[in-house]
Amino acid sequence: IPYEKASFKDFENIEGLDAYATAEEFTKYLDFLKVNGHLNYRIESLSPCGPEMDLLLPGDDVPTRCVCLVSNDYLSFSQHPQIKAAVIDGVQRFGTGSGASPAIGGHFVYHQQLEEKIAAFYRKSNAILYTTGYTANSATLQCLLHKEDLAILDMAVHASVYEGCLTTNVKTFLHNNMQMLEQVLKNAQDKYRTKMVIIDGVYSQDGDIAELNEIINLTHKYGAYLVIDDAHGIGVIGDTGRGVIEMYNAFDKVDIITGTFSKALGNIGGYVVASSEIVTYLKFQSKQHLFSTTATPAVMGILKAIDLVDNEPEWRLKLWDNIQFIKAGLIELGFDVGTTASAVIPVKVGDIPKTLEAGRLLLNLGVYANPIMYPAVSKKNSRIRLNIMAGHTKEQLTKVLEAFKIVDQQLNISGKQTV
Ligand code: PMP
Repeated sequence: IPYEKASFKDFENIEGLDAYATAEEFTKYLDFLKVNGHLNYRIESLSPCGPEMDLLLPGDDVPTRCVCLVSNDYLSFSQHPQIKAAVIDGVQRFGTGSGASPAIGGHFVYHQQLEEKIAAFYRKSNAILYTTGYTANSATLQCLLHKEDLAILDMAVHASVYEGCLTTNVKTFLHNNMQMLEQVLKNAQDKYRTKMVIIDGVYSQDGDIAELNEIINLTHKYGAYLVIDDAHGIGVIGDTGRGVIEMYNAFDKVDIITGTFSKALGNIGGYVVASSEIVTYLKFQSKQHLFSTTATPAVMGILKAIDLVDNEPEWRLKLWDNIQFIKAGLIELGFDVGTTASAVIPVKVGDIPKTLEAGRLLLNLGVYANPIMYPAVSKKNSRIRLNIMAGHTKEQLTKVLEAFKIVDQQLNISGKQTV
Protein backbone atom coordinates (compact mmCIF):
# COMPACT_ATOMS: atom_id res chain seq x y z
CA ILE A 1 0.00 0.00 0.00
CA PRO A 2 1.60 3.34 -0.91
CA TYR A 3 2.12 5.19 2.29
CA GLU A 4 0.81 8.49 0.92
CA LYS A 5 -2.56 6.76 0.63
CA ALA A 6 -2.44 6.24 4.37
CA SER A 7 -6.02 5.79 5.34
CA PHE A 8 -6.16 6.80 8.98
CA LYS A 9 -9.61 8.17 8.21
CA ASP A 10 -10.86 4.68 7.33
CA PHE A 11 -9.96 3.61 10.80
CA GLU A 12 -11.44 6.65 12.44
CA ASN A 13 -14.72 6.03 10.67
CA ILE A 14 -15.77 3.06 12.76
CA GLU A 15 -18.85 4.43 14.40
CA GLY A 16 -21.79 2.10 14.09
CA LEU A 17 -19.69 -1.05 13.94
CA ASP A 18 -20.13 -3.61 16.67
CA ALA A 19 -17.20 -4.64 18.87
CA TYR A 20 -16.12 -7.55 16.62
CA ALA A 21 -16.33 -5.52 13.39
CA THR A 22 -14.39 -2.70 15.05
CA ALA A 23 -11.68 -5.15 16.11
CA GLU A 24 -11.56 -6.50 12.53
CA GLU A 25 -11.12 -2.99 11.11
CA PHE A 26 -8.48 -2.27 13.70
CA THR A 27 -6.55 -5.40 12.75
CA LYS A 28 -6.55 -4.23 9.11
CA TYR A 29 -5.20 -0.89 10.23
CA LEU A 30 -2.40 -2.58 12.18
CA ASP A 31 -1.57 -4.75 9.14
CA PHE A 32 -1.35 -1.59 7.08
CA LEU A 33 1.10 -0.08 9.58
CA LYS A 34 3.10 -3.31 9.65
CA VAL A 35 3.43 -3.43 5.85
CA ASN A 36 4.87 0.08 6.01
CA GLY A 37 7.25 -0.76 8.83
CA HIS A 38 5.43 1.52 11.21
CA LEU A 39 4.12 -0.89 13.79
CA ASN A 40 6.62 -0.22 16.54
CA TYR A 41 4.14 -0.84 19.33
CA ARG A 42 4.71 -3.63 21.88
CA ILE A 43 8.25 -4.29 20.69
CA GLU A 44 9.52 -7.21 22.74
CA SER A 45 12.71 -6.75 24.74
CA LEU A 46 14.72 -9.80 25.71
CA SER A 47 16.85 -7.86 28.18
CA PRO A 48 16.06 -5.75 31.28
CA CYS A 49 14.65 -2.25 31.14
CA GLY A 50 17.63 0.06 30.62
CA PRO A 51 19.55 2.49 28.43
CA GLU A 52 20.16 -0.33 25.93
CA MET A 53 17.89 -3.27 25.26
CA ASP A 54 17.89 -6.38 23.04
CA LEU A 55 14.78 -5.85 20.94
CA LEU A 56 12.94 -8.26 18.69
CA LEU A 57 12.21 -5.84 15.88
CA PRO A 58 9.15 -6.49 13.70
CA GLY A 59 9.78 -9.41 11.36
CA ASP A 60 13.12 -10.40 12.98
CA ASP A 61 13.77 -13.54 14.97
CA VAL A 62 17.09 -12.44 16.42
CA PRO A 63 17.30 -9.44 18.74
CA THR A 64 18.96 -6.12 17.90
CA ARG A 65 20.75 -4.14 20.61
CA CYS A 66 19.31 -0.60 20.58
CA VAL A 67 19.83 2.54 22.63
CA CYS A 68 16.49 3.04 24.37
CA LEU A 69 14.77 6.30 25.22
CA VAL A 70 11.42 4.81 26.06
CA SER A 71 11.66 4.14 29.77
CA ASN A 72 10.39 6.24 32.65
CA ASP A 73 12.95 4.56 34.90
CA TYR A 74 14.61 7.98 35.11
CA LEU A 75 17.03 7.24 37.95
CA SER A 76 17.75 3.73 36.60
CA PHE A 77 16.51 2.43 39.97
CA SER A 78 14.85 -0.65 38.45
CA GLN A 79 18.35 -2.13 38.21
CA HIS A 80 19.82 -0.77 41.46
CA PRO A 81 21.41 -3.65 43.45
CA GLN A 82 20.17 -2.42 46.84
CA ILE A 83 16.62 -1.99 45.55
CA LYS A 84 16.68 -5.42 43.94
CA ALA A 85 17.92 -6.86 47.25
CA ALA A 86 15.02 -5.18 49.06
CA VAL A 87 12.55 -6.72 46.59
CA ILE A 88 14.11 -10.16 47.05
CA ASP A 89 14.03 -9.74 50.83
CA GLY A 90 10.37 -8.75 50.60
CA VAL A 91 9.51 -11.83 48.57
CA GLN A 92 11.51 -14.10 50.86
CA ARG A 93 9.81 -12.77 53.96
CA PHE A 94 6.28 -12.27 52.65
CA GLY A 95 5.99 -14.43 49.50
CA THR A 96 4.77 -13.44 46.06
CA GLY A 97 1.29 -12.16 46.74
CA SER A 98 -0.78 -10.41 49.37
CA GLY A 99 -3.88 -12.53 48.92
CA ALA A 100 -6.70 -10.06 49.56
CA SER A 101 -7.94 -6.52 49.25
CA PRO A 102 -6.89 -4.16 52.06
CA ALA A 103 -10.12 -4.07 54.03
CA ILE A 104 -10.33 -7.84 54.42
CA GLY A 105 -6.85 -9.16 55.12
CA GLY A 106 -4.57 -7.80 52.40
CA HIS A 107 -3.09 -4.91 54.36
CA PHE A 108 0.43 -5.84 55.49
CA VAL A 109 3.15 -4.07 57.42
CA TYR A 110 4.98 -3.16 54.20
CA HIS A 111 1.84 -1.46 52.81
CA GLN A 112 1.48 0.48 56.03
CA GLN A 113 5.17 1.47 55.95
CA LEU A 114 4.94 2.52 52.32
CA GLU A 115 1.90 4.70 52.98
CA GLU A 116 3.69 6.36 55.87
CA LYS A 117 6.92 6.76 53.93
CA ILE A 118 5.45 8.33 50.82
CA ALA A 119 3.37 10.71 52.95
CA ALA A 120 6.47 11.73 54.95
CA PHE A 121 8.40 12.18 51.69
CA TYR A 122 5.94 15.00 50.89
CA ARG A 123 6.08 16.23 54.54
CA LYS A 124 2.56 14.95 55.23
CA SER A 125 1.06 12.24 57.43
CA ASN A 126 -1.49 10.46 55.28
CA ALA A 127 -1.37 8.45 52.08
CA ILE A 128 -3.25 5.63 50.38
CA LEU A 129 -1.84 3.10 47.92
CA TYR A 130 -3.39 1.98 44.62
CA THR A 131 -2.31 -0.75 42.24
CA THR A 132 -1.09 1.75 39.63
CA GLY A 133 -0.67 5.48 39.17
CA TYR A 134 -3.46 5.28 36.64
CA THR A 135 -5.86 3.94 39.26
CA ALA A 136 -4.68 6.45 41.87
CA ASN A 137 -5.97 9.23 39.62
CA SER A 138 -9.06 7.63 38.16
CA ALA A 139 -10.28 6.10 41.44
CA THR A 140 -9.71 9.20 43.56
CA LEU A 141 -11.49 11.58 41.24
CA GLN A 142 -14.32 9.16 40.64
CA CYS A 143 -14.78 8.83 44.38
CA LEU A 144 -14.63 12.54 45.21
CA LEU A 145 -16.47 14.19 42.31
CA HIS A 146 -20.07 13.69 41.23
CA LYS A 147 -22.72 15.29 39.09
CA GLU A 148 -23.02 18.37 41.30
CA ASP A 149 -19.27 19.07 41.03
CA LEU A 150 -16.82 20.46 38.50
CA ALA A 151 -13.40 19.17 37.50
CA ILE A 152 -11.25 21.81 35.82
CA LEU A 153 -8.46 20.16 33.85
CA ASP A 154 -5.38 21.40 32.10
CA MET A 155 -6.04 19.89 28.66
CA ALA A 156 -2.74 18.02 28.78
CA VAL A 157 -3.41 15.99 31.94
CA HIS A 158 -2.99 12.24 31.80
CA ALA A 159 -5.72 9.97 30.40
CA SER A 160 -6.32 8.54 33.88
CA VAL A 161 -7.53 11.96 35.07
CA TYR A 162 -10.02 12.17 32.21
CA GLU A 163 -11.24 8.69 33.08
CA GLY A 164 -11.70 9.68 36.71
CA CYS A 165 -13.92 12.56 35.62
CA LEU A 166 -16.38 10.60 33.44
CA THR A 167 -19.19 10.96 35.96
CA THR A 168 -18.69 14.59 36.91
CA ASN A 169 -18.78 17.89 35.00
CA VAL A 170 -15.57 18.73 33.20
CA LYS A 171 -14.15 21.96 31.84
CA THR A 172 -10.70 22.15 30.34
CA PHE A 173 -8.29 25.04 29.84
CA LEU A 174 -5.53 25.26 27.25
CA HIS A 175 -2.28 23.84 28.53
CA ASN A 176 -0.75 26.12 31.19
CA ASN A 177 -2.96 29.01 30.04
CA MET A 178 -3.66 30.99 33.20
CA GLN A 179 -6.08 33.51 31.68
CA MET A 180 -8.26 30.68 30.50
CA LEU A 181 -8.07 28.92 33.86
CA GLU A 182 -9.18 32.12 35.57
CA GLN A 183 -12.04 32.51 33.11
CA VAL A 184 -13.25 28.96 33.76
CA LEU A 185 -13.03 29.50 37.54
CA LYS A 186 -14.88 32.80 37.28
CA ASN A 187 -17.68 31.30 35.19
CA ALA A 188 -18.02 28.38 37.59
CA GLN A 189 -18.50 30.48 40.71
CA ASP A 190 -21.50 29.37 42.81
CA LYS A 191 -22.63 26.93 40.14
CA TYR A 192 -21.04 23.79 41.57
CA ARG A 193 -20.73 22.09 44.94
CA THR A 194 -17.03 21.21 44.69
CA LYS A 195 -14.63 22.79 42.21
CA MET A 196 -11.36 20.92 41.71
CA VAL A 197 -8.50 22.02 39.49
CA ILE A 198 -6.44 19.03 38.31
CA ILE A 199 -3.00 19.42 36.81
CA ASP A 200 0.17 17.43 36.21
CA GLY A 201 3.44 18.57 37.78
CA VAL A 202 5.54 17.56 34.79
CA TYR A 203 3.51 17.02 31.61
CA SER A 204 4.05 13.60 30.10
CA GLN A 205 4.18 14.59 26.42
CA ASP A 206 5.90 17.99 26.52
CA GLY A 207 8.04 17.52 29.62
CA ASP A 208 7.19 21.06 30.70
CA ILE A 209 6.10 22.11 34.18
CA ALA A 210 2.87 23.47 35.65
CA GLU A 211 2.60 27.19 36.46
CA LEU A 212 2.07 26.15 40.04
CA ASN A 213 2.36 29.52 41.84
CA GLU A 214 -0.26 31.10 39.68
CA ILE A 215 -2.52 28.06 39.80
CA ILE A 216 -2.34 28.09 43.61
CA ASN A 217 -3.26 31.80 43.67
CA LEU A 218 -6.21 31.24 41.36
CA THR A 219 -7.56 28.23 43.24
CA HIS A 220 -7.41 30.21 46.48
CA LYS A 221 -9.04 33.24 44.91
CA TYR A 222 -11.97 31.23 43.52
CA GLY A 223 -12.34 28.65 46.28
CA ALA A 224 -11.31 25.58 44.31
CA TYR A 225 -9.31 22.55 45.49
CA LEU A 226 -6.04 21.68 43.77
CA VAL A 227 -4.91 18.20 42.75
CA ILE A 228 -1.46 17.63 41.25
CA ASP A 229 -0.27 14.43 39.59
CA ASP A 230 3.52 14.56 39.69
CA ALA A 231 4.19 11.16 38.13
CA HIS A 232 7.15 12.44 36.10
CA GLY A 233 8.42 14.91 38.71
CA ILE A 234 9.16 12.63 41.66
CA GLY A 235 12.86 11.78 41.93
CA VAL A 236 13.68 14.14 39.06
CA ILE A 237 12.63 17.71 39.91
CA GLY A 238 13.52 19.73 43.01
CA ASP A 239 16.72 19.94 45.03
CA THR A 240 15.92 16.70 46.85
CA GLY A 241 13.76 15.04 44.19
CA ARG A 242 10.39 15.79 45.74
CA GLY A 243 9.12 17.01 42.43
CA VAL A 244 7.38 20.12 41.21
CA ILE A 245 5.89 20.74 44.66
CA GLU A 246 9.40 21.13 46.03
CA MET A 247 10.47 23.33 43.14
CA TYR A 248 7.69 25.77 44.07
CA ASN A 249 7.96 25.09 47.82
CA ALA A 250 4.25 24.31 47.72
CA PHE A 251 4.05 21.43 50.21
CA ASP A 252 1.30 23.15 52.19
CA LYS A 253 -0.51 24.69 49.27
CA VAL A 254 -1.71 21.65 47.32
CA ASP A 255 -4.74 19.71 48.54
CA ILE A 256 -4.09 16.32 46.92
CA ILE A 257 -0.89 14.88 45.48
CA THR A 258 -1.09 11.81 43.27
CA GLY A 259 1.74 9.88 41.73
CA THR A 260 3.29 6.61 40.76
CA PHE A 261 6.06 4.29 41.91
CA SER A 262 6.49 3.07 38.33
CA LYS A 263 8.78 5.78 37.01
CA ALA A 264 11.78 7.19 38.92
CA LEU A 265 11.21 4.74 41.79
CA GLY A 266 11.56 1.76 39.48
CA ASN A 267 8.65 -0.39 40.68
CA ILE A 268 4.87 -0.28 40.29
CA GLY A 269 1.91 1.19 42.16
CA GLY A 270 0.17 4.49 42.72
CA TYR A 271 -0.36 6.73 45.71
CA VAL A 272 -2.48 9.63 46.90
CA VAL A 273 -1.23 11.98 49.62
CA ALA A 274 -3.87 14.22 51.20
CA SER A 275 -5.49 15.25 54.47
CA SER A 276 -6.30 12.60 57.03
CA GLU A 277 -10.02 12.94 56.29
CA ILE A 278 -9.70 12.61 52.52
CA VAL A 279 -7.32 9.66 52.79
CA THR A 280 -9.57 7.88 55.29
CA TYR A 281 -12.60 8.54 53.10
CA LEU A 282 -10.78 7.04 50.10
CA LYS A 283 -9.66 4.03 52.15
CA PHE A 284 -13.28 3.21 52.95
CA GLN A 285 -15.12 4.53 49.90
CA SER A 286 -12.86 4.20 46.89
CA LYS A 287 -13.93 1.01 45.12
CA GLN A 288 -10.66 0.42 43.32
CA HIS A 289 -8.82 0.42 46.67
CA LEU A 290 -11.44 -1.38 48.68
CA PHE A 291 -12.22 -4.24 46.30
CA SER A 292 -8.85 -4.89 44.68
CA THR A 293 -5.94 -6.96 46.00
CA THR A 294 -3.06 -4.97 47.43
CA ALA A 295 0.42 -4.74 45.93
CA THR A 296 2.80 -7.70 46.15
CA PRO A 297 5.67 -7.76 48.68
CA ALA A 298 7.96 -6.72 45.78
CA VAL A 299 6.88 -3.16 46.61
CA MET A 300 9.32 -3.35 49.52
CA GLY A 301 11.85 -2.24 46.93
CA ILE A 302 10.08 1.13 46.91
CA LEU A 303 10.89 1.69 50.59
CA LYS A 304 14.57 1.42 49.67
CA ALA A 305 14.14 3.51 46.51
CA ILE A 306 12.65 6.38 48.51
CA ASP A 307 15.66 6.25 50.87
CA LEU A 308 18.02 6.34 47.91
CA VAL A 309 16.36 9.44 46.44
CA ASP A 310 17.76 11.14 49.57
CA ASN A 311 20.92 9.13 50.14
CA GLU A 312 22.25 8.81 46.58
CA PRO A 313 21.56 12.16 44.91
CA GLU A 314 24.28 11.32 42.37
CA TRP A 315 21.65 9.51 40.28
CA ARG A 316 19.62 12.68 39.92
CA LEU A 317 22.76 14.69 39.12
CA LYS A 318 23.78 12.18 36.47
CA LEU A 319 20.27 12.28 35.01
CA TRP A 320 20.38 16.08 34.78
CA ASP A 321 23.81 15.99 33.19
CA ASN A 322 22.37 13.64 30.54
CA ILE A 323 19.28 15.81 30.05
CA GLN A 324 21.41 18.94 29.45
CA PHE A 325 23.72 17.04 27.10
CA ILE A 326 21.01 15.65 24.82
CA LYS A 327 18.88 18.77 24.90
CA ALA A 328 21.81 20.98 23.91
CA GLY A 329 22.77 18.51 21.16
CA LEU A 330 19.24 18.42 19.72
CA ILE A 331 18.92 22.22 19.77
CA GLU A 332 22.32 22.49 18.11
CA LEU A 333 21.06 20.22 15.33
CA GLY A 334 18.11 22.56 14.84
CA PHE A 335 15.32 20.51 16.42
CA ASP A 336 12.39 22.03 18.26
CA VAL A 337 12.22 20.54 21.77
CA GLY A 338 9.53 22.90 23.03
CA THR A 339 9.61 24.05 26.63
CA THR A 340 10.74 20.86 28.32
CA ALA A 341 12.30 21.21 31.77
CA SER A 342 12.43 17.55 32.80
CA ALA A 343 13.60 14.09 31.70
CA VAL A 344 10.87 14.01 29.01
CA ILE A 345 12.11 15.61 25.80
CA PRO A 346 9.81 15.97 22.79
CA VAL A 347 11.36 16.35 19.35
CA LYS A 348 8.58 18.07 17.45
CA VAL A 349 7.91 16.59 14.01
CA GLY A 350 4.42 17.65 12.92
CA ASP A 351 2.19 15.20 11.08
CA ILE A 352 1.58 11.56 11.89
CA PRO A 353 3.11 9.83 8.82
CA LYS A 354 6.37 11.77 9.13
CA THR A 355 6.57 10.97 12.84
CA LEU A 356 6.00 7.26 12.23
CA GLU A 357 8.65 7.32 9.52
CA ALA A 358 11.10 9.08 11.85
CA GLY A 359 10.46 6.37 14.45
CA ARG A 360 11.12 3.65 11.87
CA LEU A 361 14.33 5.23 10.62
CA LEU A 362 15.62 5.74 14.16
CA LEU A 363 14.93 2.11 14.96
CA ASN A 364 16.85 1.04 11.84
CA LEU A 365 19.74 3.11 13.18
CA GLY A 366 19.57 1.31 16.53
CA VAL A 367 17.68 4.00 18.45
CA TYR A 368 14.37 3.16 20.09
CA ALA A 369 12.24 6.24 20.84
CA ASN A 370 8.47 6.51 20.83
CA PRO A 371 6.50 8.31 18.14
CA ILE A 372 3.72 10.15 20.02
CA MET A 373 0.59 10.95 18.07
CA TYR A 374 -3.09 11.67 18.27
CA PRO A 375 -4.93 11.13 20.59
CA ALA A 376 -2.01 11.57 23.05
CA VAL A 377 -1.32 14.95 21.38
CA SER A 378 -3.22 16.92 18.73
CA LYS A 379 -2.96 15.70 15.12
CA LYS A 380 -0.43 18.24 13.83
CA ASN A 381 1.60 18.12 16.99
CA SER A 382 3.14 14.66 16.66
CA ARG A 383 6.60 14.14 17.99
CA ILE A 384 9.30 11.66 18.89
CA ARG A 385 9.49 11.54 22.68
CA LEU A 386 12.75 10.84 24.45
CA ASN A 387 12.85 9.68 28.05
CA ILE A 388 16.29 10.24 29.48
CA MET A 389 17.78 8.07 32.23
CA ALA A 390 20.65 8.42 34.70
CA GLY A 391 22.08 5.20 33.27
CA HIS A 392 22.56 6.52 29.73
CA THR A 393 26.21 7.00 28.81
CA LYS A 394 27.48 9.93 26.78
CA GLU A 395 28.43 7.45 24.02
CA GLN A 396 24.84 6.20 23.85
CA LEU A 397 23.45 9.72 23.78
CA THR A 398 25.96 10.72 21.09
CA LYS A 399 24.74 7.79 19.01
CA VAL A 400 21.20 9.10 19.45
CA LEU A 401 22.21 12.58 18.25
CA GLU A 402 23.98 11.08 15.22
CA ALA A 403 20.88 9.06 14.38
CA PHE A 404 18.68 12.15 14.62
CA LYS A 405 21.05 13.98 12.30
CA ILE A 406 20.72 11.23 9.67
CA VAL A 407 16.93 11.10 10.04
CA ASP A 408 16.76 14.85 9.63
CA GLN A 409 18.76 14.65 6.40
CA GLN A 410 16.02 12.38 5.04
CA LEU A 411 12.90 13.95 6.51
CA ASN A 412 13.91 17.56 7.18
CA ILE A 413 12.27 17.59 10.59
CA SER A 414 14.27 20.63 11.68
CA GLY A 415 13.15 22.55 8.59
CA LYS A 416 16.79 23.52 8.18
CA GLN A 417 17.86 21.01 5.56
CA THR A 418 18.31 22.39 2.07
CA VAL A 419 16.34 20.13 -0.25
N1 PMP B 1 0.08 10.14 35.42
C1 PMP B 1 0.92 10.49 34.44
C2 PMP B 1 1.18 11.94 34.19
C3 PMP B 1 1.55 9.50 33.67
O1 PMP B 1 2.37 9.83 32.68
C4 PMP B 1 1.29 8.13 33.96
C5 PMP B 1 1.98 7.00 33.23
N2 PMP B 1 2.06 7.08 31.89
C6 PMP B 1 0.39 7.84 34.96
C7 PMP B 1 -0.20 8.85 35.69
C8 PMP B 1 0.00 6.42 35.26
O2 PMP B 1 0.96 5.79 36.06
P1 PMP B 1 1.12 4.22 36.06
O3 PMP B 1 1.96 3.88 34.89
O4 PMP B 1 1.75 3.91 37.36
O5 PMP B 1 -0.24 3.62 35.94
